[in-house]
Amino acid sequence: MATKKKAVKKATKKTARKAAASKTTKSASSNKNVYFFGGGEADGNGSQKNLLGGKGANLAEMGLIGIPVPAGFTITTEVCTYYYDNGKKYPKTLNQEIEDNIAKVEKAMGKKFGDLENPLLLSVRSGARESMPGMMDTILNLGINDQVVEALAKKTGNAKFAWDSYRRFLQMYGSVVMEVEAEAGEHHDPYEVILDKAKAKAKVKDDSGLSAEELQWVVAEFKKLIKKRSGKDFPEDPRDQLTGAVNAVFNSWNNDRAIVYRQKYGIPAAWGTAVNVQAMVFGNTGKTSGTGVAFTRDPATGENVFYGEYLIDAQGEDVVAGVRTPKPIAKMAKDLPKSHKELLKIRTKLEKHFRDVQDVEFTIEEGKLWMLQTRNGKRTGFAAVNIALDMVKERLIKKEEAILRIPADDLSHLLAPIFDSAAEKAAKKVGNGLPAGPGAASGKIYFSAEESVKAAAKGESVILVRQATSPEDLRGMIAAEGILTTEGGASSHAALVARQMGKVCVCGAHNMTIDYAKGTLTGNGVTLKQGDELSLNGFVGNVYEGNIKASPSQVIQGLIENKAAAKKSATYKKFMELMKWTDSHRKLGVRTNSDTPEQVEQAIKFGAEGIGLTRAEHMFFEGNRIDSVREMILADDDEGRAKALKKIKVFMKKDFKGIFKALDGRPATIRLLDPPLHEFIGTMDAAQKKDLSKKIGMSAAAITKRIHALHEENPMLGHRGCRLGISYPAVTATQVEAILEAAADVQKKGTKVLPEIMVPLVSYARELELQKQVIDETAAEVRKKLGLKKSELKYTVGTMMEIPRACLTAEEVAKHAEFFSFGTNDLTQTGLGLSRDDSSSFLQTYQDAEVLNNNPFAALDQEGVGKLVEMGVKGGRSTKKKLKIGICGEHGGDPSSVKFFHRTGLNYVSCSPFRIPVARLAAAQAALEEKGMARGEVS
Ligand code: ADP
Ligand code: MG
Ligand code: MG
Repeated sequence: MATKKKAVKKATKKTARKAAASKTTKSASSNKNVYFFGGGEADGNGSQKNLLGGKGANLAEMGLIGIPVPAGFTITTEVCTYYYDNGKKYPKTLNQEIEDNIAKVEKAMGKKFGDLENPLLLSVRSGARESMPGMMDTILNLGINDQVVEALAKKTGNAKFAWDSYRRFLQMYGSVVMEVEAEAGEHHDPYEVILDKAKAKAKVKDDSGLSAEELQWVVAEFKKLIKKRSGKDFPEDPRDQLTGAVNAVFNSWNNDRAIVYRQKYGIPAAWGTAVNVQAMVFGNTGKTSGTGVAFTRDPATGENVFYGEYLIDAQGEDVVAGVRTPKPIAKMAKDLPKSHKELLKIRTKLEKHFRDVQDVEFTIEEGKLWMLQTRNGKRTGFAAVNIALDMVKERLIKKEEAILRIPADDLSHLLAPIFDSAAEKAAKKVGNGLPAGPGAASGKIYFSAEESVKAAAKGESVILVRQATSPEDLRGMIAAEGILTTEGGASSHAALVARQMGKVCVCGAHNMTIDYAKGTLTGNGVTLKQGDELSLNGFVGNVYEGNIKASPSQVIQGLIENKAAAKKSATYKKFMELMKWTDSHRKLGVRTNSDTPEQVEQAIKFGAEGIGLTRAEHMFFEGNRIDSVREMILADDDEGRAKALKKIKVFMKKDFKGIFKALDGRPATIRLLDPPLHEFIGTMDAAQKKDLSKKIGMSAAAITKRIHALHEENPMLGHRGCRLGISYPAVTATQVEAILEAAADVQKKGTKVLPEIMVPLVSYARELELQKQVIDETAAEVRKKLGLKKSELKYTVGTMMEIPRACLTAEEVAKHAEFFSFGTNDLTQTGLGLSRDDSSSFLQTYQDAEVLNNNPFAALDQEGVGKLVEMGVKGGRSTKKKLKIGICGEHGGDPSSVKFFHRTGLNYVSCSPFRIPVARLAAAQAALEEKGMARGEVS
């Protein structure tokens, strides 16, 4: 034993983790069911989370590095699996192993379990691989009964403490093991009712104010309650108590709460939980004792301050349960100075050892500090960035590890405006929906784009409230601070546009109703009118009545608004530094999906290396331009179409010039018009038809007739994309003229231009071949007209891969393509046969039933749609080895999808401007993971 201890001590100085891991693998391979820990030794260690659970593994690890941990033992997760596989029976040797380990604990603590002179009490705690807060229960003070309580009182000379421990045990054992809890229809916990009675009688406010005699009465009442409701006597024998508690922990792995939780977080049932049995230490013996929880750094901001709270004369969950108000940890310096000092030392030691922020539980018994738990602390996006970068500076971790540690999605928190948290808590919640655009926004409600624009022009802060948005609403959306819809899902128009613009958006708030006629929004019993104040929390999807104050993030102020003060902020500096690091690791290029010069400029500031998708038709969502597109669609002859196309070309050329200038030499993939008919003409009402009639000189009746003639049952699968260009080559030719003439103009002024013309919705190689002919012929004409040589006006032609057939026949399609770009929004829609506009009504049901883990329009369905992508890449490159391949669906900004695209060998991902930092980070993580690094494994 002594040599073992020495070896461990020596090891801790250098790399204890590694040394400990190799030392204990041997015992793990033998058929061992129970692992001891405490007093500077342990059978297991921190690397054995799968076997010992997170709590057990880290208790062992803390023991090994000389942190004071009450002795105890862990019954492995394998026993849990065995228990369920064998009709709730245990391995034969388990009982003996438990006995042996109780003896070890007794020796380490100098007390005896069930003894009537110096009794040892135990805690029985669950602990799965990943923490499942509040899912499974803990039992404290086990081993106490009518005789032991007297012995404890005598030994400590503290009867009040002994009876307090007894009543706590009855309360926990009664509810967890004997299942005497509040019954249906009973509003108050029956134990609390008895405690309240005792407190009222004694005229005290806190549990800790009760005397030994009063607690004795509580104990008697608890016993009566348990007997009456369960029909059983409470087990007096400490060993029976232990068996009951261990059973209860293993059984709790399959209680409803735990099952639901596992489903939600994707934790397999097969993992099982471990059980930790540990010597009790007592925070409830009086003024020199206490209990607390702490983070080694502030988990909200990441600031390097010790952060936590504690209670004097309290046990276990009192701190979190809110029965008494805990004190901030700094006050401990005065209350319990010695323990406080020691705790600060342990804080440093834990961080050094685990090389991450720790979330700890501790108890002080009569001035002696004990650590009861440590684990990596959960943190906000802000904290994740701050902590990772600080730790690099402190040389605790390497840059690579910092990159791997920050959940890429969390970067969006740093870009979004924020609410004051106290103000948000105080506000009244009136509904909730999908958090579609992260951030916080407050403003006055307007129910139409027009009103929103007017109000914003007057300087009002606007929340645009619609059942759903359409291209018509775009100006209103731009004008608004936030967007709320009561219908639609994560890939609805509102969500898509909001993300692209970085707008705060809550969509599909089904528990709210809009009455356009009355001009009201109703939710949670509150009815609001136009002009009333509303607030949206786009991080979580909450909707509040009233105005909660918010402002742009410091990163945006520094990066986009170029504000000097913001540039000095720590958040801005750290964000910029992190972005620099990611670029030195990632292999994937990152481009942007942008439709206007302003968006392109923003995207470049965010790090975009070009445009991966500019949707020609989105340019027409602005102003009156949509009229020209409608005119083109509605035209029933070539002449009419030509007239409309001429107008369209003027807008297009102007816009492309702006975009090319903004790109300043970077490449631009331009997708030719792809107007699903319903998005452009499906939503027109009588007034709009009348208005259009005047503008394009077509009678309202003729317009209606033409709309009927063009009507499609499934416009998403209809006459759109290249199908339009094949029916009407002039539509394609006009766009190519606009693109190349704009390119020539900008080039003349000395800016390099690299247009990549992308043909949408190709299923057959022949479609691309036909469109390429039109493009090449048009280009030849443009060059001739402008007197330019082939080398003087360059472009490439490629296709959007968004129909399964194109992926399946990619080697054919590639013959006519100089690049592929996967349009994963449509590829998901067509690959799954799942409408991107209508599926929100059952997506939730599907997720609950575990048909889907994610919304496939947000995170790529890697097993299904991913296969199509892989096939497309393989086929395409079998024809052209160096074929440039990108992705331009919404998935380009989703971290798990970005990593998939990296593994699949794509050249770049493209996403909306505000997702670019996320994509850059995810791309760097993918590159590091490819080298075999994972979170916490870089050393
Ligand atoms: P959870 O996983 O829900 O945090 P724990 O098993 O950590 O549950 O235990 C809950 C509380 O019980 C903790 O706050 C801890 O302070 C207390 N506790 C657990 N074991 C002991 C012990 N051996 N001595 C004193 N208090 C304990
Ligand atoms: Mg805990
Ligand atoms: Mg598409």
